[in-house]
Amino acid sequence: MIDLHTHSAVSDGTDTPTELVATAAAAGVTVLALTDHDTTAGWDEAAAALRGLGSAGSASGAPGLRLVRGAEFSTVSPDGHGGTVTAHLLGYLFDPADPDIVAEQERVRGSRRERVRAMGERMAAGGLPIDGDALLARLPADSPAGRPHIGQALVDAGVVGSVPQAFEELLRKDGPYYVEKYNTPIAAAIAMIAAAGGVAVFAHPFARRRGPCVDAAVIRDLAATGLHGVEVDHPDHDADDRAALRALAAEEGLLVTGSSDYHGTNKTTPIAAETTATPVLDALVRRATGAEVLAG
Ligand SMILES: [Zn+2]
Ligand SMILES: [Zn+2]
Repeated sequence: MIDLHTHSAVSDGTDTPTELVATAAAAGVTVLALTDHDTTAGWDEAAAALRGLGSAGSASGAPGLRLVRGAEFSTVSPDGHGGTVTAHLLGYLFDPADPDIVAEQERVRGSRRERVRAMGERMAAGGLPIDGDALLARLPADSPAGRPHIGQALVDAGVVGSVPQAFEELLRKDGPYYVEKYNTPIAAAIAMIAAAGGVAVFAHPFARRRGPCVDAAVIRDLAATGLHGVEVDHPDHDADDRAALRALAAEEGLLVTGSSDYHGTNKTTPIAAETTATPVLDALVRRATGAEVLAG
C-alpha cells in the first residue's frame, strides 16, 4: 500500500513524524510520503524513525517501509475563468536545502502565522474564546500554523466537539472568520520544485467542498509547463471528479496518484484510505533527483 500524502504534527496533523511512521507501518503501508504544509522540518525525524523501525522490522521479518519525503506547497492558481483560486501542490523528493524553496517556504509560514493571528482576532471580536497570539506562542517559532490549530483551541475551550466540526462550523473559507494568506503562484512553485530535482503533483484539484476549484483547462496548461502528476484518488473527490481527472491525466500524460491526506485525529480519514499504484510510484521516483527514497 502506497500512501503519498500525509501530515504530521510538524504542520497540522496530530501524529509526530515518529508516530506517523509507526502508524503507517502498523497499517501495512509499504511506501509513505510525508507531505507537511510548507515545511521539510519533519524529514529528519521521520528518517530516524524509519531507521529504528528498520532494525525492528528485519528482526521480526516484517516487510520494510519506504519513505518518500515531500511537502504540500500553498499556491494560488488561475481558475480558468479569469480569476484565481488557492491550490495545493505536492512536491516530492526535492532538495530541501534549495535556497529558493527554503526562502519561499519561510515566507509562506510567516504568512500562515499572521493568518492565525488575524483569524484569532476576528474570533475574539465575535465573542469566541480564542487568543491567536497565545495559540502561536505554544507552537514552534517557525511552524506552519494552520486552521486545525485554531480548531484544536476551539475544542480545548469547549466551543466544538472536534476539529472537523470546527472546520464545518467556524473555520471554513466562506465563514465569517476566514482570512487568506500569501500563496506562491502555482507555475512558480512547479518550476521551483523541478529546479530542486523534485516532482510536482497537483493535490486534490477538484476538492469542491473546500471551495472553488480550477478548471480542467488550467491543469492542461500546467501539464505543458512541468506539472508531473495529479492526485485523483482523494477523500474529497467524488466518483465523477475522479473519472474526469483520470481521463485528463491520460490525455496529458500525467501521473495519477491516490492518497489519504491523513491528518491524525484532525480529519476523519484513516491512513492509506486511498493509495497509489506501484508503477506510478516507480515513475515518480525515476524522475526525482533532489532527494532519495529511504528504506527502513
Ligand atoms: Zn491539501
Ligand atoms: Zn494535505
